[in-house]
Amino acid sequence: MVFCTKCGKQLAADDYYCPRCGIRTEAGKAAGVRVPTEEIRDAFAAAGKEMEKAFSQIAKEFDQAVTKVREGKVRIDCAKCGEKGIADADYCPKCGSKL
Ligand SMILES: [Zn+2]
Ligand SMILES: [Zn+2]
Repeated sequence: MVFCTKCGKQLAADDYYCPRCGIRTEAGKAAGVRVPTEEIRDAFAAAGKEMEKAFSQIAKEFDQAVTKVREGKVRIDCAKCGEKGIADADYCPKCGSKL
């Protein structure tokens, strides 16, 4: 049988938190569950913001990379003569204008 180390309530073997006082049980410690305090919630909120920032930074870099690829190697259309799908060129092979 398992008892809460704080309040002494009998616990089910797979209880992660004491149903009476809310502290983490030995089973909870073993399972690595978090203690749901304000502090932890705040930490999660901060981590969420950081992750959001990191994500938007990655998204921005990805966007820039895509733009670079589009400007460089990917097939483009000539704005001047309308030649379509020009690959890997700085100048239009049909009219010679800068792409
Ligand atoms: Zn308890
Ligand atoms: Zn052209």
